[in-house]
Amino acid sequence: MTAPGWKMMAPNSTIGIVGGGQLGRMSALAAARLGYRCHILTDEADSPAAQVAAGVTVGSYDDPAVLRAFAAQVDVVTFEFENVSAEGLDLLAALRPVRPSPSVLRISQDRAAEKGFLNAAGIATAPWRLVESVEDLRAAAAALGLPAILKTTRLGYDGKGQIRIDGDDDLLPAFAALAPKPLILEGFVDFACEVSVVVARGLDGAVSAFDVVENRHRHHILDLTLAPARIPEATAAVAREIARKIAQAIDLVGVLAVEMFIDARGAVVVNELAPRPHNSGHWTIDACPASQFELHIRAVAGLPLPPAVRHSDAVMKNLVGPAETALWPAILATPGSIPHLYGKAEARPGRKMGHVTRLFPRGGLPGEFGIRDALGALSGG
Ligand code: AMP
Repeated sequence: MTAPGWKMMAPNSTIGIVGGGQLGRMSALAAARLGYRCHILTDEADSPAAQVAAGVTVGSYDDPAVLRAFAAQVDVVTFEFENVSAEGLDLLAALRPVRPSPSVLRISQDRAAEKGFLNAAGIATAPWRLVESVEDLRAAAAALGLPAILKTTRLGYDGKGQIRIDGDDDLLPAFAALAPKPLILEGFVDFACEVSVVVARGLDGAVSAFDVVENRHRHHILDLTLAPARIPEATAAVAREIARKIAQAIDLVGVLAVEMFIDARGAVVVNELAPRPHNSGHWTIDACPASQFELHIRAVAGLPLPPAVRHSDAVMKNLVGPAETALWPAILATPGSIPHLYGKAEARPGRKMGHVTRLFPRGGLPGEFGIRDALGALSGG
């Protein structure tokens, strides 16, 4: 199927990436393999993405002069983080194609818009209410019941910008503590596991969804991803179908991660969307013929999408902060560990510095003890 205006970018064209982090770095590496150059827009002097890119514009994401200078260097624009202003992307979109479009970013930047979009598309989320005042919060808590989770609608990540509410006494302090307003109150999902699906959609509308993976967090930061998730096949099929439906409904071009809960009854509940490559998709670099980054670049450049198939099972372990980063020599010395480091100068607590993948034959993902064993020095903590 070829949509009107469908056009492949010629080799040696330049892909502009807004954001200089590890997602931009791994996207740029995938782009290089396909014969493209990347030019990074970042506010950081020495960013992980710029280290591996053909060019960089350093400046504020909100400065029109910086955005125009960046656009002049590139043929197409994508983004690797969501806290860029949608107005900034609008300005870029007037100058160059922006994929995914600024409208996709707008939905995912705002939890209320995101949940409204999902519910309108017939997709289940935790029950939620918009909270603009303390009165709204009391009414929402009465309607949804406690425990519940109060979240900022904007600028939340890795557990920041949210507070669990267990009793009425928590309502006022939680409302006062969270900013910016408005907030949403979400019913608490008593989940059996957290999973995600990375889905790609091309310029021609073709959709490829990777397998469902299981995600485990420590201190609100992704720690481990197990591919595939150990959930019933029927549940996995539902999760992938939801991801495909979202990619179509939002008119995605690029990749998008759908984070979901599997509740105690096996129902799939969508938590949030990230319209970019995602940490829970890093395993695809080593376990798939074409990774999430390759699919992203292919979509952005208008190339055909290959199927999102997996040749191996995998465990991905993030390297977070100084203690895990200090294990680097041991990781390098461990046969079978596939190491990835992002080029960040300083290992601050909570900072994602790299990741390690272990592969297993398809169907051979080990149980808990086997996973600990495979992670060796990294299984502590
Ligand atoms: P989020 O920033 O929305 O991804 O939330 C961060 C983490 O908080 C999730 O990965 C869950 O572990 C937990 N969480 C968020 N929302 C809920 C919910 N409605 N019910 C239970 N746990 C949640």
